[in-house]
Amino acid sequence: MSAHRPSTPRSDRLRGRWAGGFGRKLLGVLARPALADIDWEELEEALLVADVGVEATDTIVAALRERLKRDRAADAKEAVREELVRILDPSADRTLAIGSPGDGEAATVVVVGVNGVGKTTTVGKLARLLVEDGYSAMIGAADTFRAAAADQVATWGARAGIAVVRSDRDGGDPAAVAFEASQRARDTGTDVLLVDTAGRLQNKRDLMDELGKILRVLSRARPIAEVLLVLDATTGQNGLKQARVFQEAASITGIVLAKLDGSAKGGVVVQVQRELGVPVKFVGLGEKADDLVPFDPEAFVEGLLA
Ligand code: GDP
Repeated sequence: MSAHRPSTPRSDRLRGRWAGGFGRKLLGVLARPALADIDWEELEEALLVADVGVEATDTIVAALRERLKRDRAADAKEAVREELVRILDPSADRTLAIGSPGDGEAATVVVVGVNGVGKTTTVGKLARLLVEDGYSAMIGAADTFRAAAADQVATWGARAGIAVVRSDRDGGDPAAVAFEASQRARDTGTDVLLVDTAGRLQNKRDLMDELGKILRVLSRARPIAEVLLVLDATTGQNGLKQARVFQEAASITGIVLAKLDGSAKGGVVVQVQRELGVPVKFVGLGEKADDLVPFDPEAFVEGLLA
């Protein structure tokens, strides 16, 4: 998304809210100013408890030990800051591939994830961001299984002042809603169509079939620009298992890590990126419309160590 370069006022405003317990523990370890005095076990533990993951923790610690060999007087906080930013891959493209407002480049953004992770809320927050940035947007409420989901989406749509295409009955065919939404978005020349999907995981086969069908139907009318997977930051590593199922069902292009505000497991950002090979593009920092910020590794780490 062109206007969503990191360090917008939005991410500045929310800076620090994502630190959670992760940052506190890490700051405790970094109370000793010199890298030479760091307790490596404590550092490892702080990273592991925050769900940075074993592999990434090893990589960070090894890099820090190397650094120490070269520079006995290295500043601990600065060295850890640099390694955390490095492992978060600051060069990754975290913008949405949706062109510019009004450029006629129709884009569809599909939001997927298990029920309860914050998917519908994310759709609402994204709608708000898009409208703020001058895009015309529409929402397709293709989560037709949960009775409240379409109502919830309708409320978010009304708040953002954009149209919501929904089924006229619960349990309707999600692909039919997706189809109708994509037709309407095409006919109205809408810049971005956001599609909310259902996330039942009881049956992997069903989920994959259904998602596949929705994506096929959508791609007929307009290109699918992004498939965003929403994960719940408070569940840490468990989210990764879910993520793999969705990755099999769809080509995920980006991750939204919701509920990072209430999580001591912010380190899971590192793991999901490494495991899925796609960048975290946004983080959710609360339940309100403005609580979605573009993910910026430098600001994230700075918030942790502030
Ligand atoms: P869905 O079933 O995946 O669509 O999940 P919902 O969007 O309905 O969200 C489930 C709950 O999580 C709701 O109570 C939301 O208000 C809450 N929620 C969603 N995103 C966030 C977030 O970033 N932070 C916090 N604290 N709560 C969130």
